[in-house]
Amino acid sequence: MDEFSLIRHYFSGIGIDQPDVELAVGDDAALLRRGHGGFWAVAADMLVEGRHFPVDSPAGAIARRALRVNLSDMAAMAAKPRFYTLTISLPAADEAWLAEFSGALQEESRAAGVTLIGGDTTAGPLSLSLQLIGEVEGVPLLRSTAQAGDDIWVTGDLGSAAAYVQNGFDDLALDGYLSQRFWNPEPRTSFALAAAAYIHAAIDVSDGLWADLGHICERSQLGATIDWPLIPVNSLVESSVEEARMLALVGGDDYELCFTAAPESAAEISRVAVETGVKVSRIGQMTDSLDRLCLNQGEKVNLLRGGYRHF
Ligand code: ADP
Ligand code: MG
Repeated sequence: MDEFSLIRHYFSGIGIDQPDVELAVGDDAALLRRGHGGFWAVAADMLVEGRHFPVDSPAGAIARRALRVNLSDMAAMAAKPRFYTLTISLPAADEAWLAEFSGALQEESRAAGVTLIGGDTTAGPLSLSLQLIGEVEGVPLLRSTAQAGDDIWVTGDLGSAAAYVQNGFDDLALDGYLSQRFWNPEPRTSFALAAAAYIHAAIDVSDGLWADLGHICERSQLGATIDWPLIPVNSLVESSVEEARMLALVGGDDYELCFTAAPESAAEISRVAVETGVKVSRIGQMTDSLDRLCLNQGEKVNLLRGGYRHF
């Protein structure tokens, strides 16, 4: 049983129906109606030592990554991040470690304009979970609202963080490009808020483009065709990794946005991308045939793996 069927089977539809729950399990965040209009977006992401980052990673790097991956889910909903809670399990009360962690968290939180409002602390193996709360003033971005004929877009480049993981985390200095892409993903908040009016559906790419675009397909009841050469891959990845574009497709840990929009909106999306300093690439189209295809000059690309799976 994979993570997604597990969640669907055991964690969906729990509790009572409430009219102000606009959207529960299944998207990048839940949406709760606000009394004065708009929505609260609520999302949580957990990081476990030895699974999501190597044992003995620097405390500051862990803090930065933990906040940023959660901010990415807010961006995927076009929510402005506001508040968060931190639940952390620590092997020891190591003050030097805690000072570094807390300092980095302070810096990142101020830069993102968010406030830590609570949480829980316990002894145990190192793991941490942040729950972010953001506000949606306009129309939220969902996975379920893509339309046939939409262009498929992605921000940034894909596969760089996965290349760092594949290289065993240790081939480059911590300030190298690949390690930066893993430790300091750039939440695309400004772009998402400014471009939301032109976007039909969105998700953030955490488990790999193939898997995450698959969630847009499933929830929108559509198919997708990706144009293999258009997948944006950094030249460093291209030159240092075999099958770089395959890694970009199924690798994960990118925390970029994948979104769909009408072809007529292309110019506006490119304009917003320039204004917010984000690279965007148009990599394919949504189709109404349920099939998901990745084509290289008409030939179907043979997929090796299907994206990161937790189980
Ligand atoms: P993302 O990669 O965007 O964080 P996930 O794949 O982790 O999303 O989760 C998919 C959906 O399932 C989300 O809506 C998330 O809130 C929900 N979900 C995941 N785990 C649980 C759980 N244990 N209980 C309830 N909902 C969950
Ligand atoms: Mg997400």
